[in-house]
Amino acid sequence: MDTITFGILTISDTCAKDNAKDKSGEELMQLVTNRNDEIGKILKGKILKREIIPDNEIDIMRTLQEWADNLEVNVILTTGGTGFSQRDVTPEATKKIIDKEAPGISLRMLTTSLTITPLAMLSRAVCGIRGKTLIINLPGSPKAVRECLSAIAIAIPHAVDLILDNKSKVANVHTKIQDSPVHNHSCTHRNKNNSNVSLDLKDIANRLRESPYPMISMKDVANILNSYNWSGENEFVDLWKCRGRILADDIYARCDLPPFRASIKDGYAVIASDSKGKRLVYGGLEAGHMPGKMKLRNGYCVRVNTGAPIPDEATAVVQVEDTKLLKKHSDGREEMEIEILVEPKEGQDIRPIGSDIKEGKLILQRHTRIGAVEMGILAACGHTKVQVTKLPTIGVLSTGNELQQAGEEPKPGHIYDSNKITLIMLLQEYGYNSTDMGIAIDDENVMINTIRDAIQHVDVLITTGSVSMGDRDMLKPILKQIFNATIHFGRVNMKPGKPTTFATFEFNGVTKYFLCLPGNPVSATVTAHLFAIPLLHRLSGNNVKPTIVQARLTCSYKLDPRPEYARAILEWSSDAAIPLAHSTGNQISSKLTSCKSANALLMLPGANSECSEMKEGDIVQAMLIGAYL
Ligand code: AMP
Ligand code: MG
Repeated sequence: MDTITFGILTISDTCAKDNAKDKSGEELMQLVTNRNDEIGKILKGKILKREIIPDNEIDIMRTLQEWADNLEVNVILTTGGTGFSQRDVTPEATKKIIDKEAPGISLRMLTTSLTITPLAMLSRAVCGIRGKTLIINLPGSPKAVRECLSAIAIAIPHAVDLILDNKSKVANVHTKIQDSPVHNHSCTHRNKNNSNVSLDLKDIANRLRESPYPMISMKDVANILNSYNWSGENEFVDLWKCRGRILADDIYARCDLPPFRASIKDGYAVIASDSKGKRLVYGGLEAGHMPGKMKLRNGYCVRVNTGAPIPDEATAVVQVEDTKLLKKHSDGREEMEIEILVEPKEGQDIRPIGSDIKEGKLILQRHTRIGAVEMGILAACGHTKVQVTKLPTIGVLSTGNELQQAGEEPKPGHIYDSNKITLIMLLQEYGYNSTDMGIAIDDENVMINTIRDAIQHVDVLITTGSVSMGDRDMLKPILKQIFNATIHFGRVNMKPGKPTTFATFEFNGVTKYFLCLPGNPVSATVTAHLFAIPLLHRLSGNNVKPTIVQARLTCSYKLDPRPEYARAILEWSSDAAIPLAHSTGNQISSKLTSCKSANALLMLPGANSECSEMKEGDIVQAMLIGAYL
């Protein structure tokens, strides 16, 4: 190879703000092109691209993708972002867009750097190949850049030759996938069985124009989701931490409640058969004290507080309001004699032992969701640790080239990602914590690598976007072909959310679940309620069912051919048997404000020849949505 083309990419928040600070990028330009330098002599480099970008994973992925795919530079050298600080994400971004790793190059850099400084241990550089481009992460300091590049320079021309040759060989061994919704191929990947498969997402003209997945009903969806269950794994959690969790086992009372005969009133413990009239006051018993040797005899009474134990001989408690003071002790402060004004009845105002809860009695059934009151019952019965179901681990991933993180400088043609925060918070409202898996751009490698990474960490991956009919909607073919996942459904007869997809896949003996929701924010939110929450309930052993009520429409609805879930605010009033359903406005699926304040999804039936409209005053079913239903 006579000349090698290079892209030099500096990745640093600081340098992106002040380009003059980019010493490493400058150093690399010199090293690669200076034919008087040892490294330059070997590399014979020509710079095709040079850029400085901040430590932003998506920007890094996009730049690497663009330089490799469109410019086809031979080598991209990145500098910066390989360390341990929170913003250092160069290796993560690189890993997601490469086809193959080239660990030998990173190893060579590492071993060389370690002979100079032990701190080289902290470098996480990744090297690999995307298409015809070799991508090498270098550290951020000019000195380290020189050391690392000089350690690997000798191999770069050879590596470039191999990559260019290899590409043509690899192209001949592509395996054609026959049963896929897309044909032809544009790049090869290793699937679960470690064989090469290819995905062709670039044959746009010949792509299918209708989804190959059968349209299934919501009833079938329910049957499919209900066929999954809690794995049976459980764990003990501290009483104070079990809120929102699901009991893995039945819970029995460890003690009687009350554990002693207790007074229900502030008053006097008496022998009921003494009837009303005078009593000498034997003394007082406060809550938290036991009667000890105190014995109650006829004609006497003992002053007691609510919740105090009463002497064994007492057969009734008379409330203080039904008594009168007759005589005080000489100090003038203590009672000596009182009068009982109302005839006491046997057992009056005494809680017998175990009258609230009997020791050994079943107090909470397995699969109960633990809320505030359940925690109180557990505490009252002496439980400090609770056996609960192990919750599935969940990841939430947004997909789309157009997405930006909130807070970033707005870019042309982009929108802020609203799905991820909505979904993560919605799941949390139902008691499910999830991990932010970031944004995957619409690139096969990024999607595949992101999913590969995700399944190492989570049981359930919930994605939004990339399941419709667009030429960049690649999730279904990727799941099917690369992961050999079983797609249980890929099209549902409902609105909004028709392309919602559910797939499972066995990974190291564990089932992984993929719930791929459409990208439109309303569709994502509605399908999260209708598909994600029920699936998570199943996997957590939570037997709760959705609450469906009847509601009266306050406006008319033109029915869609598909059953529709319209967002509404139900209003209950004391003078109407059924709540009024107020529409949240325009129901277009991009308009997230139509979900604002909604506490129900109206279950509008699909239009048919007899009925194409629901009128104001009509009654429909409505599924309640919101926290902790
Ligand atoms: P898709 O399902 O990927 O075809 O996307 C459908 C629509 O939803 C497009 O207008 C996207 O820009 C939008 N969209 C996709 N993902 C998101 C997201 N995470 N946040 C906000 N809008 C999104
Ligand atoms: Mg998309």
